[in-house]
Amino acid sequence: MKNENQKLKIIPLGGAGSVTKNMFVYESEKDIVVVDCGMGFPDESMLGVDLVIPDISYLLERRKKVRGIVITHGHEDHMGALPYILPQLNVPVFGTRLTMGLIEVKLKEHQLLKKVRLQTVNMDQQLQLGDFHLSFFAVCHSIQDAMGIILKTPVGIIVHAADYKFDWTPVDGQTFEVEKLAILKKQGGIKVLLSDCLRIEKEGYTLSEKAIGEAFDRETEKASGRVMITTFSSNISRIQQAAEVAAKHHRYLVLVGRSVEQNVEVARKLGYLRFPAGILVKVDQIKGVAPQKLMLIVAGSQGQSGSAMVRIANRDHRFVRITEGDTVIFASDPIPGYSDGVYNLIDRLSDQGANVIYSEITDDVHVSGHASKQELALMLGLTKPEYLIPIGGLLRHQKHLALLAQEMGMPKDHAFILKEGDAVELGPNWAAKVAEKVSVSDVMVDGTGIGDVGEIVLRDRQVLAEEGIFVVIINLDKKTGKLVHPPDIISRGFVFMKESEDLIARSQKIVEQVIAEHSQKQAEKGFIRRKIIDGLERFLYGQTERRPMVLPVIIEL
Ligand SMILES: [Zn+2]
Repeated sequence: MKNENQKLKIIPLGGAGSVTKNMFVYESEKDIVVVDCGMGFPDESMLGVDLVIPDISYLLERRKKVRGIVITHGHEDHMGALPYILPQLNVPVFGTRLTMGLIEVKLKEHQLLKKVRLQTVNMDQQLQLGDFHLSFFAVCHSIQDAMGIILKTPVGIIVHAADYKFDWTPVDGQTFEVEKLAILKKQGGIKVLLSDCLRIEKEGYTLSEKAIGEAFDRETEKASGRVMITTFSSNISRIQQAAEVAAKHHRYLVLVGRSVEQNVEVARKLGYLRFPAGILVKVDQIKGVAPQKLMLIVAGSQGQSGSAMVRIANRDHRFVRITEGDTVIFASDPIPGYSDGVYNLIDRLSDQGANVIYSEITDDVHVSGHASKQELALMLGLTKPEYLIPIGGLLRHQKHLALLAQEMGMPKDHAFILKEGDAVELGPNWAAKVAEKVSVSDVMVDGTGIGDVGEIVLRDRQVLAEEGIFVVIINLDKKTGKLVHPPDIISRGFVFMKESEDLIARSQKIVEQVIAEHSQKQAEKGFIRRKIIDGLERFLYGQTERRPMVLPVIIEL
């Protein structure tokens, strides 16, 4: 299959130098295969933006070459952008059963289910997508049915190992299929390994998911009131363990929050979750049930606004109120960058009398889904790749995985630290970073709009959020160009109007002056607007040292 003239490109459109928004392009002469299609979370500068998706301009320009998108697992940052990407690029999507079940729920919400091509694969299946021959290996992660991909390409074998860890006592019994990687040495060896690197800073091994069940058991044993557990709602193994602990302690299980209910429904339907009979009670039925008879699984472990956990903390939930003696377990760590919201939530719950257990207090109520340093070393030793591309981590994580590979004997220039839009080109006997980047930008989704919020809209939102708005409504006589009555001023987020009568009156004067100066000249409206903005901005800054957004509205009567 190898041919000296063959070339292949690997391009991360997202998920390199960043943790979320994963999307990787494998491109040969004739074909493209995409791995993952994740969403990202907006940073603080992206006011009001719901989520961020990868920029697929590169793929749209080559849409005829794209053979499909393979999804490694059912986490949002690996498949959450599908509802936004598929309408633009409707190619087949491949994934395992649980992954596909979760994707179907998302696509259904967006009324896309009938329009897309979904194909479920199992771990032992093989796929030929143009130049690429794909096979899969099971990996352990904080969601079941996660997989890595072995791509046999015209330039050699590439292993794509997105989020993973090695868990030899997994709750669902599915261990990492190391044998499928070990055998590749006999087939000519692995040319490139793309590997998770997020937890490289932690020495040793990540704990087994099983440790969580023991922690739930211990905390439930101690609890005198209700037990509420909040975790990522896609962590089915954790919900399974909670259910078993509930049964052991003769508690009913209550699902609180839409994402938990939806994911549990999919996982039960597909057989990934088995509840002891009669254990489930609906949240609207818990009134009157003794507190020590209840365990609640609550959505919103990251303090997402509007989530069940946040509504409970705000005393705004229809059926659940915190009372003295409740135990709340945060079986999750805050996503980097979101910890303030989570700690604030913990404070508010504690304030209402809950005994809150979180990972700073007890280190076994959450275990990571990512491999620690010794596991990453195991992966490198197992695969012995010629080249390495660390993925799914920040720059420092990428660097440290590259260093680890060097310690294990890889030449320094065989590890590529990539950012979004960087490309690596490979031939059968060489690999090099491409000088020219693929142009990518964050595509922001706000409500139903995709990509229509850009720099200018964000800058306006920034001003509105920090300085407020100052609106002047000007009614002009169509014939004379004179004011019909004094200008109306409305302001929000700038000054308290009732105590700023003087400021408002003087602002009105400034507007009147501008109009008077220009009414005879029949000046153009845009010009008058600009003059009013300039005059008011200068005046308001002089008075308050603030720069609200000044917005004149001219109406001709
Ligand atoms: Zn993941």
